Amino acid sequence: MKAAIDAVSLAADLIRGSEYVVAMTGAGMSVESGIPTFRGADGIWSRHGQPSANSYAEWLEDPDAFWSSERRRRVEPWIVELRETLRQAKPNEGHRALADMEDSGKVMSVITQNIDGLHQDAGSKSVIEIHGSRHKMRCVDCGDRTPRTTLFIDSPPPPCIECSGRVKFDSVLFGEPIPQVTLQAARSESDRADCVIVIGTSTSVKPAGGLPRIAKANGATLIEINSSETPLTRSCDAVIRGTAASVLPELLERLLL
Ligand code: NAD
Ligand code: ZN
Repeated sequence: MKAAIDAVSLAADLIRGSEYVVAMTGAGMSVESGIPTFRGADGIWSRHGQPSANSYAEWLEDPDAFWSSERRRRVEPWIVELRETLRQAKPNEGHRALADMEDSGKVMSVITQNIDGLHQDAGSKSVIEIHGSRHKMRCVDCGDRTPRTTLFIDSPPPPCIECSGRVKFDSVLFGEPIPQVTLQAARSESDRADCVIVIGTSTSVKPAGGLPRIAKANGATLIEINSSETPLTRSCDAVIRGTAASVLPELLERLLL
C-alpha cells in the first residue's frame, strides 16, 4: 500500500513540475466501464480467437464481400459480447478524473487507442482517437468523417458525399494505415509533451504504442498507470500498479491539494 501511495506522490510531483502533460490511453482504461481488452488472460481474443489480421486488404479488395461477411459475423460470440458491452458502457471514475485534469489545466490532451468514445462522454475535450471512433464513418479517399448511427452495418455505405470516395467505419482495421492527419496530430502532441501519463495500454500496437518511447527520447518523463507490468515499465519514471478507475481519482486529488 505504502509503495503505491509513494508512486502516486511521485507521479503528482512529476506532473506539477511539467509544462505540457499528455495522457495516452489503451483498452485497460475502459475495463472498469465493462469493456474487456482484446489481449491478455481475460481478453476477448484470448477467449474467442483473433479475427483476420488482413481485414483492411480484404475490405479494399472487395467491399461487398467484406460487408457480407461482417453481416454473417454479427452472431459470433465475441462480436455479440463486444456489441453489448459497448452499448452499455459508461465512463468510469478514471475517465472522469482525466476530464477534470484537463479542465483544471493539469493535462492538455488525451491520445487514445480506444474507439469507445468514453473520454468525450466523461467531458474530455482535446481527444485524439488514433484508432478511430465507433461513432463515426470515414472516407478513406478524402478523410471526411460523418456520424454513424448504428454499431453494425448491413450493407456497404454509399460513396462519400464530398469526393465520391470509398467509405468505411472510422475504427481502423488490421493493416489499415492510421489517417495521416490523425497520426500527425498525435505526433505533434507527444512531441510537445514534457510528461506523458500512459494508462492501460500494453503499448504493443504500433504506431500508437511507440509514441511514449519517442516522447521519452525527446526528454519527456513517463508515468505508467497499469494493473500489470508492460514492456514500457522499465522506461518509466513513475510506475503506479493499479487500475485506471482507482488510481486516476487518487492522482487528481493529490494534484488538487
Ligand atoms: P491491450 O489489450 O494490448 O492492453 C491492455 C492493457 O491494459 C494491459 O497492459 C493490461 O495490463 C492493462 N489493464 C487491464 N485492465 C486495466 C485496468 N483496469 N486499469 C489499468 N490497466 C489495465 O490494449 P491496447 O494496448 O489498448 O491495444 C489493444 C487495441 O485494441 C487497441 O488498439 C485498442 O484500440 C483496441 N481496443 C479498444 C477497446 C476500447 O475501445 N475500449 C477495447 C479493446 C481493444
Ligand atoms: Zn471522400
